[in-house]
Amino acid sequence: MKIFDAHCDVLMKMLLEPNINFIDGPMLHVTKAGLTKAGVSVQMFAIYVPEAIHPSMRFEAALTMVELFFERIIKDAGLRFIRNKDDLTSLKKGEIGAILALEGCDCIEQDLLRLRTLLRLGVSSVGLTWNHANALADGALEERQGGLTRLGKEAVTLLDGAGCWCDVSHLSEAGFWDCLQLHKKVIASHSNCQSIVAHPRNLTDDQIKALIHHDGQIGITFVPDFLTKRTSAVIADVIHHLDHICSLGGKEHVGFGSDFDGIEQTVIGLDKVEAYENLVNELLKYYREEDVCGFLYENFASRF
Ligand SMILES: [Zn+2]
Repeated sequence: MKIFDAHCDVLMKMLLEPNINFIDGPMLHVTKAGLTKAGVSVQMFAIYVPEAIHPSMRFEAALTMVELFFERIIKDAGLRFIRNKDDLTSLKKGEIGAILALEGCDCIEQDLLRLRTLLRLGVSSVGLTWNHANALADGALEERQGGLTRLGKEAVTLLDGAGCWCDVSHLSEAGFWDCLQLHKKVIASHSNCQSIVAHPRNLTDDQIKALIHHDGQIGITFVPDFLTKRTSAVIADVIHHLDHICSLGGKEHVGFGSDFDGIEQTVIGLDKVEAYENLVNELLKYYREEDVCGFLYENFASRF
């Protein structure tokens, strides 16, 4: 069964440790060998510049991650670079596609030319913020909880014109509603349900329903803190969030964005990309095969 995973942080780990083994090493949740074994057809790779990097160095860090993506993941490991629908539909059996995503626009500071540059380099999904505020908007954990700034609105219009996904996963709620007004292709690449776990990184039922109505897409994420209030999460928790989105009418708008390599603690039975198999087997107990195909691949792929 084909899999589309909407979020991982391999590039952040590569930035911190450029020689990390992406082919089959033990230090990454997502490796070429793991993707192959799991049957992942498309993996999204986030450019997340750690907040510890000085603001004046962040754009350079983002460019370094673009370089690592093309050198290590496309050239050395042989994944296929995907930047549009044609690339996606022309993937051959056994090939693994790789999509470049920007997680937070802190690195562009106030310069939309930098955002245009990243789009030219092949970024096809952009989240305006990480958890805090920047020149474009407030993030999910920013106390002020403001929406988009004037520059943020300009950025979203630019992304919309480029046909780029606008990823609202880390955005404040006010920012979420602003994006939905301004942008056609909105996703939440790695977020769960607030009615199950009241975490600001999760989506309220109203947000989920609005995304569905907007023909958007939600990637359930394997971050234990967003899945359960207990000290550890299991695969049943992942399915619980999926069930909830389906109950709100989102059967064709839900998929997965693991956040592998962005998390320290993992779901029991879902500790690295190879373990997708366990999730697939569980899903097939509760859902028809065609629905499971949708969750795992088609729902995200059809909206790219
Ligand atoms: Zn994230």
